[in-house]
Amino acid sequence: MLLTISTTYSPATDLGYLLHKHPARIQSFTLPFGQAHVFYPEARTEKCTAALLLDVDSVGLIRRSRGQFAENFALSQYVNDRPYVASSFLSVAISRVFGSALSGKCKERPELVKTEIPLSASLSILPCRGGEKLLRRLFEPLGYTIEAERHTLNTRFPEWGDSRYFTVTLEKTCSLSELLTHLYVLMPVLDDEKHYWVGDAEVAKLLKHGNNWLTAHPEQESIVLRYLKHQRKLTREALAQLREDDAQETDESGQAQEEQVEERIGLNEVRLAMVTEVLKQCDARRVLDLGCGEGKLLRKLLAEEQFEEIVGMDVSHRILKIAQERLHYDRLPDKQKKRLRLFQGSLGYRDKRLSGYDAAAVIEVIEHLDVPRLAAFERVIFEFTCPRTVVLTTPNIEYNVKFENLEAGPFRHRDHRFEWTRNEFQSWASDVAKRFGYTVAFHPIGPESEGVGPPTQMAVFTREGYDYKDS
Ligand code: SAH
Repeated sequence: MLLTISTTYSPATDLGYLLHKHPARIQSFTLPFGQAHVFYPEARTEKCTAALLLDVDSVGLIRRSRGQFAENFALSQYVNDRPYVASSFLSVAISRVFGSALSGKCKERPELVKTEIPLSASLSILPCRGGEKLLRRLFEPLGYTIEAERHTLNTRFPEWGDSRYFTVTLEKTCSLSELLTHLYVLMPVLDDEKHYWVGDAEVAKLLKHGNNWLTAHPEQESIVLRYLKHQRKLTREALAQLREDDAQETDESGQAQEEQVEERIGLNEVRLAMVTEVLKQCDARRVLDLGCGEGKLLRKLLAEEQFEEIVGMDVSHRILKIAQERLHYDRLPDKQKKRLRLFQGSLGYRDKRLSGYDAAAVIEVIEHLDVPRLAAFERVIFEFTCPRTVVLTTPNIEYNVKFENLEAGPFRHRDHRFEWTRNEFQSWASDVAKRFGYTVAFHPIGPESEGVGPPTQMAVFTREGYDYKDS
């Protein structure tokens, strides 16, 4: 099985730095299933080609796993296409032999790693279950130009028809690591087979290598299903994570956009300062920040000694990781660390971990919820979590006319499912308060403008019968 990678980038011999393999040498590597050899059929300044030749020792493989195969003898274990085709064996060889290039590392020429260079990869034989159609559906959305030659099953008997084997050349101007990553994931997908056990680790591997491109790929489902050897549970897990990442990506870019829109009036800072003040005033000691995002409010709360226990919860694992980094959680002194906890959870579901707190902040979150999910959210907060104070903020849509260019459309953020007028917000909040036994007070946040009110609106709910002076 032969894979060649060529570039016409100048000087093309830089390919040697990227692959960490010197163009003048032939190198061999022993892998658990055979030998891999790397050499350069051509290494000129104008064009350079590296070849990875994989010699799969299929007989050795079976002998080494005698125990496993002994009772299960089948001729197909000895006579099969594995040594001759691009399969998961080649993916493993890429990760072992070109590991640094795959993960985009290059000590000697770090600037080269991100450089987009004209690349061409040729696979001598690529099995495609799903034919050329699938081959194109997988690689074309990623921007590749594809040349594919299908082989007949047996040239002596053309009437037997076509085989599933293709000789394929893929061309794209991109970083080498991108090309290798696509090959690494998609070769076993086209082959629809893997030579090893597929478990949770494989989901993690897919998410790692699929980062950036798999979330938006139109064939996402079939890629995940085939990559995970059709294991439904693992597939469901991987797809759920990819979709969450996708939502979060939209959310993060939208978040930046919203912040830009609001930044001119320093709204975020004012909002967080006011929320902190309300939480202080209501004498809360143990507080929740629900939908905490990157943890800006958490940072403010940490600075106030009054708050003995602070919890940040968000639906997105990814944003929680960002929060952890921004708060330098790992480097916090023990005393501070003990006060702060971050965990993943959704406001759509009752969650025992949220019980027993004095106050909850839900800052700029409800507008991200689908309207039909609001009823569940209301019960989670006011019936099950039921802290004595709930501070909730949301944009006032009336104020949007004051923002010069709202690229997101009618809303400040493209993930917002709705934004409310002051009337809409107040009637929703008053109704919720009445149904769940709270009183509610409204406060403007940010500079109020005639006729349209403030940019942010805040509701402070207090559980009925509670007077903080009693506590
Ligand atoms: N409160 C933060 C972040 C607001 S952005 C701030 O004011 O800066 C909205 C946040 O709500 C995002 O981080 C998003 O991941 C989170 N979110 C959206 N739906 C959620 C849900 N159902 N449960 C918990 N968090 C949710």
